Parts: sequence; C-alpha cells; structure tokens
Amino acid sequence: MGKRQLPEWHKDLKRCTRLYEGFADAAPFFTAMYECVQTFFESRPVNPGPPVNLEEAEDSLRSGTSLQLDLQLDTQDVVDLLQSMSVVLAEANPDLKGPAGVLREYAEQLIMDSPERICKQNVRDLCDRLVADGDWEQDLATFVYTMAMSSFYKRCLQQPAAALQTGLWTEGHCPLCGEKPHTGVLRADDGAKELECWLCGTKWVHTRIKCPYCGNEEQEDLGYFTVEGQETCRVNFCQKCHQYCKIIDGRKLKGGGQVFVDIHNLASLSHDLAARQEGFTPGSGLQWVNAEEMACR
Ligand SMILES: [Zn+2]
Ligand SMILES: [Zn+2]
Repeated sequence: MGKRQLPEWHKDLKRCTRLYEGFADAAPFFTAMYECVQTFFESRPVNPGPPVNLEEAEDSLRSGTSLQLDLQLDTQDVVDLLQSMSVVLAEANPDLKGPAGVLREYAEQLIMDSPERICKQNVRDLCDRLVADGDWEQDLATFVYTMAMSSFYKRCLQQPAAALQTGLWTEGHCPLCGEKPHTGVLRADDGAKELECWLCGTKWVHTRIKCPYCGNEEQEDLGYFTVEGQETCRVNFCQKCHQYCKIIDGRKLKGGGQVFVDIHNLASLSHDLAARQEGFTPGSGLQWVNAEEMACR
C-alpha cells in the first residue's frame, strides 16, 4: 500500500502550532476530528449538489444576487457523521463523554423528526439546543456545527465552487450559498483581501477598505487589531455595524501555498474573544466565545 498523501489541512495545523500560543495543546484534538471526518467520507462518497447553470449563475453574480444554495442532505448521512464525531469527542477528552452522549441522543431524534432529508438549519437548531440546555459549551457546538456542515457542503459543491466566476462578485456574503464569511486571507502574492465561505469554501476577492457585512467604505470607521505575538491573524472591524471578521495575513506565512483558513480560525479563537471584549460581534453569526469567558474578563 502506497504512502497516504497528507491532507491539505495538515500543513497549516503544523504551522499554527508555531504561530499561535496555546494551540499546540489543542492540536491533537483537532487532528483527531479532521481525521475522523476524512475517514468517514472515504467510505461514504456524497452525491453532488443540484446542477448549477453557469451562464445563469454569471448573470446572477453580476447583479449581486447570491445563488443561495441550501442543500437537502440525507438525514442518515448527517446523523452518522455526528455519531462518528461524538465517538472521537469522548475518546479525545474524558470530560466530553457526557456531552458526546447527549449529541448521540439528539442526533437520534433528528432521524425520528426528519427521516429523509434535513438542511443546515436543522443541525444548527440541534447545536443551539445543546448549548441552551446547558449540556454543551458554545465553542464546541459551533465547532461541531461548522465542521459537520462544511464537510458536506465542500464536497457536494466542489464543482460549482471551482467553476463560479467569483471575479464578478463584489458583495460580502458567499455568492454560492449566501453564508457570511468568518475569515479570509491577505494573499501572499498580491496582498488582495480574499474572503472564504466557512460553509462551502468558495473564495472571492473583496475590496480591502470595505466592511463585508454592511458595505461601509469610510476608511475612518474601518480598522484592525491583532493579539500580541500572534500577528498573523488580524481582527478586521467596522465601527458602523460593530461587526468583525478575521483575516490571515498570508504575507507573513513561511512556506507559501494555499492557506487552510479553517485551522487558522481554530488556532486564533483568542482573537474572537478580544473582538467580543472590544464590543464587536461576529459578522458571520458564528459564536466562538463562551458566555463565561466574556464574564471573566
Ligand atoms: Zn458558501
Ligand atoms: Zn460594517
């Protein structure tokens, strides 16, 4: 058997353990989760999403209208992935045995409620309920929700995401699925700000001096800050809508190549905390900060 090629997230996982303080402790957990998802899909290929008419898509993008693809996923597939993730959660951390058990129960309930098909909102509701019922921390719920859903979306929408003429797109939300990004990069080669959809992985260049969430272009309202010693990640904020996103400065990364921003996002959650403490909310709507972290500032 040939040597297995290292997955694309692997390089940034290593990079991030050097770049972000404290991430080395969390890296084995995230490695286990990424490997779990990868193994899951190796034995279960997904069906591609609905076909996208590229000509119509072009017109749509030109007029500033996202295609808003909302996938109807096979409930059993989603539940099986959540079950696999729950096993790894419990193995990785004994404290998570209880929460992992609750996830399994809730996932079973999904099958009862919607035996055929579900959409991302159903899974979001499930994760919100885990937090509201006091069984889960917010950051874990957001992680499981984004990881599970993006792993389906990225696989199902791989073709249209690659074929889409994103150069025509100037908005701040995703041209393909409509979600608002949480992260982006400053590209190493030209310094352009490239936003990336956390859900389907579509990337598009966005004007640097512009808020992706409210469209504000007033330079004095827009800024960024970083966390000391971890300047690779910037918190871009807007003082008009008081929202933020995180931008990874690719020019600072040694070794070049593609930046796997999801890993940088996980490695820089202290930036999210800092942003919240400064009074900004995530423009993506993804809450990565636990309520008690906010309380003990
Ligand atoms: Zn998207
Ligand atoms: Zn704004």
